Amino acid sequence: MAEESVKTVTTVEPDLDFIKKLRESGGDTLKKCMQCANCSVACPLAPDSKPFPRKEMIWAQWGMKDKLIANPDIWLCHQCNDCSLYCPRGAKPGDVLAAIRNMAIQENAFPKFLGNIVAEKKYLPLLFAVPAVLLLLILGAIGHLKIPAGEVVYSKLLPIFYVDSVFLPTALLMAFFAYKGIMRFWKALVEAEAKSGTKRYLMPPLPSFIKMYVLPVVSDILTHVRFQKCGSNKDRFTAHLGVFYGFVGLFITTNIVMIGHYLFHMDTPFSIIGPVKILGNFSAIILFIGMTLIIRNRLAGADDPGASGSSYFDWSLIWVIYAVTITGILSEMLRLAGIAVLAYPMYFAHLLCVFCLFIYLPYSKLAHLLYRTTAMVYAKYTGRE
Ligand code: SF4
Ligand code: SF4
Repeated sequence: MAEESVKTVTTVEPDLDFIKKLRESGGDTLKKCMQCANCSVACPLAPDSKPFPRKEMIWAQWGMKDKLIANPDIWLCHQCNDCSLYCPRGAKPGDVLAAIRNMAIQENAFPKFLGNIVAEKKYLPLLFAVPAVLLLLILGAIGHLKIPAGEVVYSKLLPIFYVDSVFLPTALLMAFFAYKGIMRFWKALVEAEAKSGTKRYLMPPLPSFIKMYVLPVVSDILTHVRFQKCGSNKDRFTAHLGVFYGFVGLFITTNIVMIGHYLFHMDTPFSIIGPVKILGNFSAIILFIGMTLIIRNRLAGADDPGASGSSYFDWSLIWVIYAVTITGILSEMLRLAGIAVLAYPMYFAHLLCVFCLFIYLPYSKLAHLLYRTTAMVYAKYTGRE
């Protein structure tokens, strides 16, 4: 679909603040790079033409923020760190790319102030305090500020209508904010391509676009085919698969419960031996195993060149997901054991963690799913993959 070719001259205007932030947020090895290109040869995912991550290392050293942020290649990297293993200088290009991705999420964040709140440690208490106050106000307003008597049934504390009236609008608002961020990213990709002067691409009709570019990417994601190409950090494949399918299972379960409740007036909790509960419990367990593997790998690999580095940005989401999983599992166990005095506070803590997770969606590593999918679609669309 190439229509024309134009020669351009690039003027480098280093963004020193960007370099500083990048080095502080996981890209501290950046300056060690001597541009030998071993990393691009070692990377199992880099395309033959203009492979990453060597060129990203030099762009990052030069502080070329705009070029990096609008570069789909940073999202084609799955942080397996094969490149870091073969770097003769001890630079960790896999971690540098991860730090660039985190900064790209913040650059595209909409609205910006929410992106900043999620990215900064000092605001963490606020993220929990807002839903805590909101839920306590609702409990106070409906006169439920005490442990309900009798069998443990969570809707006795907070009826489903009230849970949904807080969580549904929050989820929809966050989905809209995420959409705005992704659109901003797509526009930047298209503009960067146009500026480079190499090619222009024509957009086919939407059904053809979905068939040709979106569905193959969805298939790649479902099978985790790109993760399987990683060599040194193979555990990431298993851990990521567990987390991904754990989330998918819980998403399906939540929607079935909502449809069952509102359309078919089914009471909660569902039977422990029913298919919905089994799906929910199984998903929670594989999510727990996946998250435990991720945490174990990160803690164990601090000195390993093949392991991923970590910043607050990475850890905050990991702990929030872990907290959602553990409080969810404990809520169910305590409910089944009938220990009301612990079960209801645990359920309350679970709701707080879920609320935080929703807020995190467009601005944290969770947004990787959206940005990476977009970049993979764009790469297919432009013949990069
Ligand atoms: S292998 Fe290391 S030194 Fe060589 S280009 Fe890549 S990051 Fe730079
Ligand atoms: S971390 Fe893995 S996928 Fe990313 S650039 Fe390095 S080798 Fe390639």
